[in-house]
Amino acid sequence: MVSVALLSTPWPLFNRPSIQLGALKAFLRREVRGIFVDAHHVYLGIAGTLGYDLYNRISVRTWLSEAVYGALLYPERQDIISRLWHKRPSRPRKPGFDEICRVVREASKAFIAGRDWKAYQLVGFSVCFGQLTSALYFARKIRERAPSLKIVFGGSSCAGDLGRSFLRAFPDIDFIISGEGEEPLAHLARWVASPGASDLPAPMAGLFFSGDDGSIPSEKSSQVPGLDDLPLPDYEDYFRQLDSLAPRKHFFPEIPVEISRGCWWRKPSPLYHHRGCAFCNLNLQWKGYRAKSRKRIISELKTFAERYRVLSVSFMDNLLPMDQSVTLFQGIAQLGKDLRLFGEIRGTASLAELAAMGSAGMAEVQVGIEALSTGLLRKINKGTTVIENLEMMRNCEASDMPTLLANLITQFPGSDEKDVEETLINLAFARPFRPLKVVPFWLGYGSPVWNAPARFGIKKVYNHPLYSRLFPPQVMGTLLLMIQDYRGSLKAQDRLWQPVKKAVKAWEKAYSGLHRGAKSRPILSYSDGGDFLIISERRYASEDMNHRLKGSSREIYLFCEHARSTAEIVGRFGGLGEEKVLPFLNMMVEKKLMFREGERYLSLAVPLRGYMRRRA
Ligand code: SF4
Repeated sequence: MVSVALLSTPWPLFNRPSIQLGALKAFLRREVRGIFVDAHHVYLGIAGTLGYDLYNRISVRTWLSEAVYGALLYPERQDIISRLWHKRPSRPRKPGFDEICRVVREASKAFIAGRDWKAYQLVGFSVCFGQLTSALYFARKIRERAPSLKIVFGGSSCAGDLGRSFLRAFPDIDFIISGEGEEPLAHLARWVASPGASDLPAPMAGLFFSGDDGSIPSEKSSQVPGLDDLPLPDYEDYFRQLDSLAPRKHFFPEIPVEISRGCWWRKPSPLYHHRGCAFCNLNLQWKGYRAKSRKRIISELKTFAERYRVLSVSFMDNLLPMDQSVTLFQGIAQLGKDLRLFGEIRGTASLAELAAMGSAGMAEVQVGIEALSTGLLRKINKGTTVIENLEMMRNCEASDMPTLLANLITQFPGSDEKDVEETLINLAFARPFRPLKVVPFWLGYGSPVWNAPARFGIKKVYNHPLYSRLFPPQVMGTLLLMIQDYRGSLKAQDRLWQPVKKAVKAWEKAYSGLHRGAKSRPILSYSDGGDFLIISERRYASEDMNHRLKGSSREIYLFCEHARSTAEIVGRFGGLGEEKVLPFLNMMVEKKLMFREGERYLSLAVPLRGYMRRRA
């Protein structure tokens, strides 16, 4: 019999169970005979004590998250860390940092004191974004109470050389799992469980320990071959913990569901020697791309909804699979449950795919828009163009489509005046749609930019200097960390992108101003009269405008709901000829009712009654 504790420490989103803990617990219970596994969602308890609103405000900011447990881990650095906290504009103003640390310290101590740690042989920490200092704090406190148990760290923050550096810097960690956790954790549990176990487990790809001979390269990992072979994640511990909270702290959680691991967007960059998006390091943990079958996903959703009595589901994939997504979402819709779904998609998803998602209950999609300059999209190897991005933004504006959430990356190394100029021009066409969130580029360990910085004009890369406020110098000397910083035109980039930041602020103001009120209409919409079309344009701080298109003008406008080349348009409306079509298209672009990129045209208004209702 072996007892294993799995911990997820603050600061993941409190309103959903940890998919890492759920998946690992289920796998261990299936694979290791006689095992007992406790999954401790430490973050839920801390959130309950701190108050959900305050917890949330800290948890969405990495430096705030790391600062709190940094101060608990190194109390002698409280003043330095407090200064870091006070320089973050997003920090909560009340209560103060010292008070937050006091409350979190007391709640954390109570959690530690409430368990018999000597009853476990192995304690595993899932360490993802913002969880490093909290995991280290709990590892140290658990180690003090049970010096002989084995402590293992895994998760995205421990991948490759990051994990190896933790082994050097933090003596409380016995093992690191780099990459997927299932197989190496089961290997460790079997080793711990075997009577008269050797001092160290047999070597395995993806498992590092301080006494290993380094013969297994950091980039190797052990993966299960197919995701359908995995057992259903076990979220019982989270729901039991939630039930044990005072009734006023109860809420309806979201269920995390994983359809795939890795990312299928692996197209080589036309400019540099890498695959996928240049800024992205989300797939450090996975080698290749694997997805569950449609049948498995639908049955998982059905089981979760019925077992836990919840309808909100977050797909945890870095990118939802797109092949067969129409049939997948049609199958989900056929479950007949009013699910509320969230997922991440590329900007190339078609209207049919979006419509299938919408009818299955996809309420929000995080879309990889990233830029409104085709030159910049090429530099980051997004594989999209502005006209495709605008088409996606417009489609999501319709009443029956998922709401779009998306970023606009500024200050990407190597971006120039031309990219900014193009962005500003195109922003004027994007104004009817939900504003993008400005996100300044940050350098992530393992991203293509980090791997080949010189190609992007970067001179030197190093750990982000804010880490040196958290960790003492002797620890910093050996650490390699997730958030990196660099030398190379940072200030120039910041100056360059100021006009875009200003334009996005104005866009946000106009958009929210026009969407005040419960039943606000899209800013740019059309109503179809059969042989004529009325386009309604709502304008901020100005009179609204209407435009009527008749006959072939109407038909061309509807034809260009999907971006069309001049040749396609002329081919379709051959009777008119280019000399008649082009002046119409140019006039529509002039009025910002259509967008042109090169030879392609896109209509910007959405059907007032929604795409699905229009087609019904
Ligand atoms: S940003 Fe998204 S699409 Fe691009 S490589 Fe990362 S996961 Fe894939």
